[in-house]
This record gives sequence, C-alpha cells and structure tokens, in this order.
Amino acid sequence: MPARTRTRTHEHIARAVVSERSAAIEAVPRLLEDWYRQNARDFRWRRGELSPWQLLVAEVCLQQTMSPRVDAFLPGFLSRFPDAAALAAAPRAEVESALRPLGFQRKRAAVLQGLAEALAGRDIPRTRDALLALPGVGQYVASAYLCAVHGEPTFLLDVNFARIVERVFAPRLRPDLRDDPVLETVGRALAGAAHDPRRFNWAMLDLGALVCRPTAPRCDRCPLVVHCAYAAAVEE
Ligand code: SF4
Repeated sequence: MPARTRTRTHEHIARAVVSERSAAIEAVPRLLEDWYRQNARDFRWRRGELSPWQLLVAEVCLQQTMSPRVDAFLPGFLSRFPDAAALAAAPRAEVESALRPLGFQRKRAAVLQGLAEALAGRDIPRTRDALLALPGVGQYVASAYLCAVHGEPTFLLDVNFARIVERVFAPRLRPDLRDDPVLETVGRALAGAAHDPRRFNWAMLDLGALVCRPTAPRCDRCPLVVHCAYAAAVEE
C-alpha cells in the first residue's frame, strides 16, 4: 500500500476508535482522576514545591530513570544548583559528579547545562514550539512541563501511557509510539475530556506503574476494567 494511502487508512482507523468508544473516552479520565485521589504516588514535583526551572530539571532527570530514585536525588542537586544561572556557571566536572548517583552523568550534565545556558536570565517559554527549540527538550518533556506548570490539557505519551491505551482501546498501528495515529488521537481525546489534566496524566503514570503493569496486570484492582478491551478478552 502506498505510504500516503496507508497514512489516510491509519488516521481513519484512529478516528473510528475514538468515535466507537466515545463513552469510554468520556469516562476514563474521570475514573482515573477519582482513583488518583486514593492511590497517588507522592513526588516532590507534584506538590507544587518546585520552581518552573526545577520542574524542567526534574523532567529531564526522569528520562530513563525511575521516579522514586529521582525524587530522592533532587533535593541535594537543587540545593547545590537552585537555578539556571547557578547551573550554567558551574564547572562541567562538578555537575557530572553531582549527577553520578543518577547515572548517565556525562549526557545529563551536557543536556542540563545546555538548557541552563539557554535559559539563564530569561523566563522559560510558555509555548510548545519555543520549548522544543531548547536544547534537550523533546515532545515528552515539553508536554510534562506544560501540563505540570500551566495545567495544559496535553498527554504524556510514554510506554506506560501507550500500554494502557492499547489495552483499553485498540492496538497501535505503527512500531514507533511517537508516530502512531491511534495513540495520538485517543491520547488527545482523553486529555480533552479530563477535568484536571495534571491528575489525569499523573494517574496514567501511576496506573501504569502500580496496576496496568507490562506483565500480570492487576485488572481486579483497576478502575478502568469495565471499559477495557484487554480485560474483556481475558474474561471470555
Ligand atoms: S483492566 Fe487490566 S489491562 Fe485493562 S487497563 Fe486495567 S489493569 Fe490494564
């Protein structure tokens, strides 16, 4: 099938999923937000304690590292480098040494100091395009920042988010989750239906970590079970 025809077919399938599952699209964000009230994991970047710069640092650190580890690491790092100017002015070896407990310290130091140099003395931009123009900021970090700081109704597309959407709604159509019409269209519809984008996204992260795990999902404890295609197929 030619690439253009395939793209149109995939987009048509994605829109059909949203249309056919409209009741679930409306219900899932509310169920997640309710579940989050009782089951939220407590991390400092969710408590409103961090400045926008510190939230950006947290999101960069969360790439490839588990949340509890980043949560334990951040206070020491942020007290040493509390803002962009302090981090930009520090010797690279000192930043790498501070990042060593988290791993990938050379790469992380380069990314964080690149960001610090770009942002020292200026406000962090408010638009996605301007954020994406910053060194080391990709779609996920931009979405996480815009949602956490400005409450934007976006969605945080990672492997956990993809797994839940695929199980509840429909499998993705392309191997790369960043380029999949089902994940994109369903994710956008879910974020649009959420009352509180922060709670919705953090609930998706927590559900993926605690309940809808890659193996042995705990469907008996899941707030989404009545809407879940995977759980229905297992029941049959
Ligand atoms: S019902 Fe099971 S498979 Fe479906 S979202 Fe919940 S834990 Fe995941």
